[in-house]
Amino acid sequence: MVTRVFTVDPLVPRGDLLRAAAEILRNGGLVAFPTETVYGLGADATSAAAVSRIFEAKGRPQDNPLIVHVHSYDAVPPLVAELPARAEVLMYRFWPGPLTLVLKKSRLVTENVSPGLATVGIRMPDHAVALNLIRLSGVPVAAPSANASGRPSPTSASHVLSDLGGKIEAVVDGGPCGIGVESTVLDLTVEPPAILRPGGTTREAVEEVLGDVVLDATVVNAGGPKSPGTKYRHYAPSARVFLVDPGRVPAGGLLRKFAAEFAARGHRVGVLASSEVLAEGGTSRKPTGEWDDQGTAWLDAGSERDLDEVAARLFDNLRRFDDLGADVVLAQVFPETGMGLAIMNRLLKAAEGRVLRSGS
Ligand code: AMP
Ligand code: MG
Repeated sequence: MVTRVFTVDPLVPRGDLLRAAAEILRNGGLVAFPTETVYGLGADATSAAAVSRIFEAKGRPQDNPLIVHVHSYDAVPPLVAELPARAEVLMYRFWPGPLTLVLKKSRLVTENVSPGLATVGIRMPDHAVALNLIRLSGVPVAAPSANASGRPSPTSASHVLSDLGGKIEAVVDGGPCGIGVESTVLDLTVEPPAILRPGGTTREAVEEVLGDVVLDATVVNAGGPKSPGTKYRHYAPSARVFLVDPGRVPAGGLLRKFAAEFAARGHRVGVLASSEVLAEGGTSRKPTGEWDDQGTAWLDAGSERDLDEVAARLFDNLRRFDDLGADVVLAQVFPETGMGLAIMNRLLKAAEGRVLRSGS
Protein backbone atom coordinates (compact mmCIF):
# COMPACT_ATOMS: atom_id res chain seq x y z
CA MET A 1 0.00 0.00 0.00
CA VAL A 2 1.21 3.49 -0.81
CA THR A 3 0.59 5.89 2.06
CA ARG A 4 -0.82 9.16 0.74
CA VAL A 5 0.50 12.36 2.30
CA PHE A 6 -1.85 15.34 2.56
CA THR A 7 0.21 18.39 3.45
CA VAL A 8 -1.87 21.13 5.05
CA ASP A 9 -1.40 24.44 6.84
CA PRO A 10 -2.03 23.51 10.49
CA LEU A 11 -3.92 26.74 11.18
CA VAL A 12 -5.94 26.93 7.96
CA PRO A 13 -6.09 23.35 6.65
CA ARG A 14 -7.43 22.91 3.11
CA GLY A 15 -10.96 21.57 3.14
CA ASP A 16 -10.60 19.45 0.02
CA LEU A 17 -7.64 17.55 1.46
CA LEU A 18 -9.35 17.02 4.82
CA ARG A 19 -12.47 15.80 3.03
CA ALA A 20 -10.39 13.26 1.14
CA ALA A 21 -8.83 12.08 4.41
CA ALA A 22 -12.25 11.98 6.12
CA GLU A 23 -13.57 9.86 3.26
CA ILE A 24 -10.83 7.30 3.96
CA LEU A 25 -11.86 7.16 7.63
CA ARG A 26 -15.52 6.74 6.72
CA ASN A 27 -14.59 3.82 4.47
CA GLY A 28 -12.81 1.99 7.26
CA GLY A 29 -9.27 3.15 6.41
CA LEU A 30 -6.48 4.43 8.64
CA VAL A 31 -5.43 8.08 8.63
CA ALA A 32 -2.66 9.53 10.80
CA PHE A 33 -3.21 13.16 11.76
CA PRO A 34 -1.61 15.83 13.90
CA THR A 35 -2.97 16.82 17.29
CA GLU A 36 -1.54 19.27 19.80
CA THR A 37 0.05 16.33 21.70
CA VAL A 38 1.42 13.78 19.19
CA TYR A 39 0.27 12.38 15.84
CA GLY A 40 -2.68 10.01 16.18
CA LEU A 41 -3.53 6.97 14.03
CA GLY A 42 -7.25 7.32 13.40
CA ALA A 43 -9.99 4.85 12.53
CA ASP A 44 -13.79 4.89 12.79
CA ALA A 45 -14.44 4.06 16.47
CA THR A 46 -17.82 2.51 15.62
CA SER A 47 -16.29 -0.07 13.24
CA ALA A 48 -14.67 -3.16 14.71
CA ALA A 49 -12.94 -3.92 11.41
CA ALA A 50 -11.45 -0.44 11.13
CA VAL A 51 -10.30 -0.43 14.75
CA SER A 52 -8.66 -3.84 14.46
CA ARG A 53 -6.53 -2.50 11.63
CA ILE A 54 -5.00 0.02 14.05
CA PHE A 55 -3.69 -2.81 16.24
CA GLU A 56 -2.37 -4.62 13.17
CA ALA A 57 -0.58 -1.59 11.67
CA LYS A 58 1.07 -0.63 14.97
CA GLY A 59 1.77 -4.15 16.18
CA ARG A 60 -0.08 -3.04 19.30
CA PRO A 61 -0.98 -5.57 22.02
CA GLN A 62 -4.72 -6.29 21.76
CA ASP A 63 -5.44 -5.35 25.39
CA ASN A 64 -4.07 -1.80 25.20
CA PRO A 65 -7.13 0.49 24.92
CA LEU A 66 -7.50 3.32 22.40
CA ILE A 67 -8.66 6.89 23.03
CA VAL A 68 -11.76 8.05 21.17
CA HIS A 69 -11.43 11.56 19.74
CA VAL A 70 -14.43 13.85 19.28
CA HIS A 71 -14.86 17.32 17.80
CA SER A 72 -17.87 18.46 19.85
CA TYR A 73 -19.27 18.13 23.36
CA ASP A 74 -22.47 16.69 21.85
CA ALA A 75 -20.53 13.70 20.55
CA VAL A 76 -19.81 12.52 24.12
CA PRO A 77 -23.18 11.42 25.59
CA PRO A 78 -23.78 8.74 22.91
CA LEU A 79 -20.38 7.21 23.71
CA VAL A 80 -20.91 6.85 27.47
CA ALA A 81 -23.28 5.01 29.79
CA GLU A 82 -23.39 8.02 32.09
CA LEU A 83 -21.86 11.48 32.13
CA PRO A 84 -21.06 12.56 35.69
CA ALA A 85 -21.29 16.29 36.46
CA ARG A 86 -17.58 16.53 37.18
CA ALA A 87 -16.80 15.13 33.74
CA GLU A 88 -18.73 17.97 32.17
CA VAL A 89 -16.92 20.49 34.36
CA LEU A 90 -13.58 19.11 33.18
CA MET A 91 -14.71 19.04 29.54
CA TYR A 92 -15.69 22.71 29.64
CA ARG A 93 -12.52 23.66 31.47
CA PHE A 94 -9.92 21.67 29.53
CA TRP A 95 -11.38 20.80 26.09
CA PRO A 96 -10.24 21.11 23.47
CA GLY A 97 -6.98 20.05 25.06
CA PRO A 98 -4.70 17.26 26.28
CA LEU A 99 -7.01 15.64 28.85
CA THR A 100 -8.55 12.21 28.26
CA LEU A 101 -11.49 11.29 30.48
CA VAL A 102 -12.10 7.61 31.24
CA LEU A 103 -15.87 7.01 31.58
CA LYS A 104 -18.27 4.04 31.48
CA LYS A 105 -18.76 3.20 27.82
CA SER A 106 -21.94 2.81 25.77
CA ARG A 107 -22.54 0.14 23.13
CA LEU A 108 -21.76 2.60 20.35
CA VAL A 109 -18.07 2.16 21.15
CA THR A 110 -17.00 -0.96 19.34
CA GLU A 111 -15.66 -3.63 21.69
CA ASN A 112 -12.02 -3.66 20.57
CA VAL A 113 -11.54 0.07 21.30
CA SER A 114 -11.14 -0.93 24.96
CA PRO A 115 -11.15 -4.72 24.97
CA GLY A 116 -12.50 -6.31 28.12
CA LEU A 117 -13.05 -2.93 29.80
CA ALA A 118 -16.36 -1.34 30.79
CA THR A 119 -14.83 2.07 30.14
CA VAL A 120 -13.71 4.28 27.29
CA GLY A 121 -11.19 7.14 27.18
CA ILE A 122 -12.46 10.24 25.34
CA ARG A 123 -10.90 13.55 24.45
CA MET A 124 -11.25 16.58 22.18
CA PRO A 125 -7.91 17.53 20.64
CA ASP A 126 -6.88 21.19 20.42
CA HIS A 127 -5.82 21.23 16.78
CA ALA A 128 -7.67 22.60 13.74
CA VAL A 129 -6.63 19.68 11.55
CA ALA A 130 -7.79 17.04 14.03
CA LEU A 131 -11.06 18.78 14.86
CA ASN A 132 -12.01 19.37 11.22
CA LEU A 133 -10.99 15.89 10.16
CA ILE A 134 -13.16 14.32 12.87
CA ARG A 135 -16.07 16.64 12.05
CA LEU A 136 -15.87 15.85 8.32
CA SER A 137 -15.62 12.11 8.94
CA GLY A 138 -18.92 12.21 10.82
CA VAL A 139 -17.79 9.48 13.24
CA PRO A 140 -15.95 9.36 16.56
CA VAL A 141 -12.30 8.60 15.77
CA ALA A 142 -10.35 6.01 17.76
CA ALA A 143 -6.69 7.02 17.70
CA PRO A 144 -3.64 5.85 19.61
CA SER A 145 -0.28 7.46 18.91
CA ALA A 146 0.75 6.87 15.28
CA ASN A 147 4.01 5.04 16.04
CA ALA A 148 4.97 1.39 15.77
CA SER A 149 4.17 -0.11 19.18
CA GLY A 150 7.03 0.38 21.64
CA ARG A 151 8.71 3.20 19.70
CA PRO A 152 8.76 6.85 20.80
CA SER A 153 5.49 8.58 19.90
CA PRO A 154 5.53 10.59 16.65
CA THR A 155 5.59 14.38 16.78
CA SER A 156 5.96 14.92 13.03
CA ALA A 157 4.62 13.33 9.85
CA SER A 158 8.11 12.03 9.04
CA HIS A 159 8.13 10.08 12.34
CA VAL A 160 4.80 8.53 11.31
CA LEU A 161 6.04 7.62 7.85
CA SER A 162 9.21 6.05 9.18
CA ASP A 163 7.15 3.71 11.42
CA LEU A 164 3.95 3.18 9.44
CA GLY A 165 4.68 4.17 5.82
CA GLY A 166 3.11 1.57 3.51
CA LYS A 167 0.87 0.22 6.29
CA ILE A 168 -1.76 2.98 6.45
CA GLU A 169 -3.82 4.74 3.81
CA ALA A 170 -2.78 8.32 4.59
CA VAL A 171 -1.09 10.81 6.86
CA VAL A 172 -2.17 14.42 7.12
CA ASP A 173 1.03 16.43 7.54
CA GLY A 174 0.27 19.50 9.62
CA GLY A 175 3.80 20.14 10.84
CA PRO A 176 5.30 19.38 14.26
CA CYS A 177 3.12 18.92 17.36
CA GLY A 178 3.24 21.70 19.93
CA ILE A 179 3.04 19.82 23.23
CA GLY A 180 4.99 16.74 22.26
CA VAL A 181 3.81 14.29 24.93
CA GLU A 182 0.45 12.52 24.98
CA SER A 183 -2.69 13.56 26.84
CA THR A 184 -3.19 13.13 30.55
CA VAL A 185 -5.50 10.14 31.14
CA LEU A 186 -7.86 10.69 34.08
CA ASP A 187 -10.11 7.88 35.35
CA LEU A 188 -13.41 9.33 36.57
CA THR A 189 -14.94 5.93 37.35
CA VAL A 190 -12.98 5.64 40.61
CA GLU A 191 -13.04 7.67 43.80
CA PRO A 192 -10.96 9.79 44.11
CA PRO A 193 -10.27 10.24 40.38
CA ALA A 194 -6.96 8.73 39.32
CA ILE A 195 -4.35 9.85 36.81
CA LEU A 196 -3.60 6.70 34.82
CA ARG A 197 -1.04 8.51 32.68
CA PRO A 198 0.45 11.97 33.25
CA GLY A 199 0.53 14.11 30.12
CA GLY A 200 -0.10 17.47 28.57
CA THR A 201 -2.54 18.67 31.25
CA THR A 202 -0.71 18.97 34.56
CA ARG A 203 -1.85 17.26 37.74
CA GLU A 204 -1.80 20.68 39.37
CA ALA A 205 -4.27 22.09 36.81
CA VAL A 206 -6.64 19.13 37.27
CA GLU A 207 -6.48 19.47 41.06
CA GLU A 208 -7.42 23.15 40.84
CA VAL A 209 -10.77 21.97 39.49
CA LEU A 210 -11.32 18.61 41.25
CA GLY A 211 -9.35 18.85 44.46
CA ASP A 212 -6.98 15.97 45.17
CA VAL A 213 -6.53 13.28 42.56
CA VAL A 214 -4.34 10.21 43.01
CA LEU A 215 -1.60 8.91 40.78
CA ASP A 216 -2.21 5.36 39.65
CA ALA A 217 0.40 2.84 40.84
CA THR A 218 1.67 2.49 37.26
CA VAL A 219 2.60 6.19 37.27
CA VAL A 220 4.30 6.19 40.65
CA ASN A 221 6.35 3.18 39.63
CA ALA A 222 6.60 4.00 35.91
CA GLY A 223 9.75 2.06 35.20
CA GLY A 224 9.15 -0.88 37.49
CA PRO A 225 9.33 -4.06 35.44
CA LYS A 226 6.43 -5.73 37.25
CA SER A 227 4.01 -2.84 37.70
CA PRO A 228 0.78 -3.25 35.71
CA GLY A 229 0.68 -1.27 32.49
CA THR A 230 4.42 -1.34 32.12
CA LYS A 231 4.46 -4.92 30.93
CA TYR A 232 5.17 -3.60 27.43
CA ARG A 233 8.27 -1.69 26.39
CA HIS A 234 7.29 1.90 25.68
CA TYR A 235 8.61 5.08 24.10
CA ALA A 236 11.95 3.43 23.55
CA PRO A 237 14.54 4.06 20.86
CA SER A 238 16.64 1.09 19.75
CA ALA A 239 19.37 2.04 22.22
CA ARG A 240 19.33 0.98 25.88
CA VAL A 241 18.23 4.06 27.78
CA PHE A 242 19.55 4.94 31.26
CA LEU A 243 18.34 7.84 33.38
CA VAL A 244 21.08 9.74 35.16
CA ASP A 245 19.99 11.19 38.50
CA PRO A 246 22.65 13.57 39.81
CA GLY A 247 21.07 14.08 43.24
CA ARG A 248 23.31 16.73 44.83
CA VAL A 249 26.28 16.48 42.47
CA PRO A 250 26.46 18.59 39.28
CA ALA A 251 24.52 16.91 36.46
CA GLY A 252 27.05 17.73 33.75
CA GLY A 253 29.95 16.08 35.54
CA LEU A 254 28.00 12.91 36.24
CA LEU A 255 26.75 12.67 32.64
CA ARG A 256 30.33 13.04 31.39
CA LYS A 257 31.57 10.37 33.80
CA PHE A 258 28.99 7.76 32.77
CA ALA A 259 29.31 8.69 29.09
CA ALA A 260 33.07 8.17 29.26
CA GLU A 261 32.64 4.81 31.03
CA PHE A 262 30.21 3.46 28.44
CA ALA A 263 32.28 4.85 25.56
CA ALA A 264 35.42 3.19 26.99
CA ARG A 265 33.58 -0.14 26.77
CA GLY A 266 33.00 0.48 23.07
CA HIS A 267 29.46 1.82 23.18
CA ARG A 268 28.13 4.61 20.99
CA VAL A 269 26.67 6.86 23.67
CA GLY A 270 23.93 9.41 23.08
CA VAL A 271 23.54 11.94 25.89
CA LEU A 272 20.33 13.93 26.41
CA ALA A 273 21.29 16.92 28.53
CA SER A 274 19.61 20.18 29.47
CA SER A 275 20.59 23.44 27.80
CA GLU A 276 22.07 24.50 31.15
CA VAL A 277 24.34 21.46 31.33
CA LEU A 278 25.41 21.98 27.72
CA ALA A 279 26.23 25.61 28.45
CA GLU A 280 28.35 24.80 31.53
CA GLY A 281 31.90 26.09 31.38
CA GLY A 282 34.34 23.36 30.47
CA THR A 283 31.69 20.99 29.19
CA SER A 284 32.75 21.72 25.62
CA ARG A 285 29.79 19.72 24.41
CA LYS A 286 27.98 21.10 21.44
CA PRO A 287 24.45 19.79 20.94
CA THR A 288 25.23 19.16 17.30
CA GLY A 289 24.02 15.62 17.32
CA GLU A 290 27.37 14.57 15.89
CA TRP A 291 29.81 12.02 17.24
CA ASP A 292 32.77 13.51 19.09
CA ASP A 293 36.17 11.85 19.30
CA GLN A 294 35.15 10.11 22.55
CA GLY A 295 32.29 8.25 20.89
CA THR A 296 29.57 10.38 22.45
CA ALA A 297 26.88 12.54 20.82
CA TRP A 298 25.01 15.14 22.85
CA LEU A 299 21.52 16.49 22.16
CA ASP A 300 19.86 19.49 23.78
CA ALA A 301 16.86 18.37 25.85
CA GLY A 302 15.75 21.98 26.39
CA SER A 303 15.97 24.23 29.41
CA GLU A 304 15.48 22.95 32.97
CA ARG A 305 13.42 26.12 33.47
CA ASP A 306 11.13 25.40 30.52
CA LEU A 307 9.79 21.88 30.82
CA ASP A 308 7.27 22.58 28.04
CA GLU A 309 10.24 22.87 25.71
CA VAL A 310 11.75 19.64 27.05
CA ALA A 311 8.43 17.84 26.45
CA ALA A 312 8.03 19.25 22.95
CA ARG A 313 11.45 17.94 21.91
CA LEU A 314 11.53 14.70 23.88
CA PHE A 315 10.35 12.11 21.36
CA ASP A 316 12.15 13.75 18.45
CA ASN A 317 15.35 13.68 20.49
CA LEU A 318 14.91 9.97 21.27
CA ARG A 319 14.37 9.23 17.59
CA ARG A 320 17.43 11.27 16.62
CA PHE A 321 19.58 9.00 18.76
CA ASP A 322 18.32 6.09 16.63
CA ASP A 323 19.18 7.95 13.44
CA LEU A 324 22.66 8.54 14.85
CA GLY A 325 23.08 4.85 15.64
CA ALA A 326 23.54 5.24 19.41
CA ASP A 327 23.37 1.95 21.32
CA VAL A 328 23.28 3.56 24.77
CA VAL A 329 21.36 6.72 25.67
CA LEU A 330 21.95 8.58 28.94
CA ALA A 331 19.15 10.97 29.82
CA GLN A 332 19.30 13.58 32.53
CA VAL A 333 16.39 13.51 35.02
CA PHE A 334 14.05 16.48 35.34
CA PRO A 335 11.93 17.64 38.30
CA GLU A 336 8.56 15.87 38.50
CA THR A 337 6.46 19.02 38.77
CA GLY A 338 4.16 20.39 36.09
CA MET A 339 5.09 18.89 32.71
CA GLY A 340 8.03 17.20 34.41
CA LEU A 341 5.73 14.42 35.64
CA ALA A 342 4.89 13.42 32.06
CA ILE A 343 8.48 13.81 30.90
CA MET A 344 9.84 11.60 33.68
CA ASN A 345 7.09 9.01 33.16
CA ARG A 346 8.08 8.67 29.48
CA LEU A 347 11.81 8.60 30.24
CA LEU A 348 11.44 6.02 33.02
CA LYS A 349 9.45 3.77 30.70
CA ALA A 350 11.93 4.24 27.86
CA ALA A 351 14.64 3.28 30.37
CA GLU A 352 12.60 0.33 31.69
CA GLY A 353 13.33 1.72 35.14
CA ARG A 354 17.15 1.86 34.85
CA VAL A 355 18.53 4.81 36.82
CA LEU A 356 22.21 5.59 37.36
CA ARG A 357 23.15 7.68 40.40
CA SER A 358 26.40 9.13 41.65
CA GLY A 359 28.24 6.28 43.32
CA SER A 360 26.65 3.68 41.00
P1 AMP B 1 -1.97 6.13 23.14
O1 AMP B 1 -2.99 7.01 22.51
O2 AMP B 1 -1.13 5.38 22.16
O3 AMP B 1 -1.14 6.92 24.07
O4 AMP B 1 -2.71 5.05 24.00
C1 AMP B 1 -3.83 5.37 24.75
C2 AMP B 1 -3.57 5.13 26.20
O5 AMP B 1 -4.64 5.70 26.93
C3 AMP B 1 -3.56 3.67 26.61
O6 AMP B 1 -2.29 3.09 26.51
C4 AMP B 1 -4.04 3.71 28.05
O7 AMP B 1 -2.94 4.00 28.89
C5 AMP B 1 -4.96 4.93 28.06
N1 AMP B 1 -6.39 4.56 27.98
C6 AMP B 1 -7.21 4.70 26.93
N2 AMP B 1 -8.45 4.24 27.20
C7 AMP B 1 -8.41 3.78 28.45
C8 AMP B 1 -9.38 3.15 29.30
N3 AMP B 1 -10.63 2.91 28.92
N4 AMP B 1 -8.98 2.80 30.52
C9 AMP B 1 -7.71 3.02 30.94
N5 AMP B 1 -6.75 3.61 30.18
C10 AMP B 1 -7.09 3.98 28.95
MG1 MG C 1 0.97 5.38 22.33
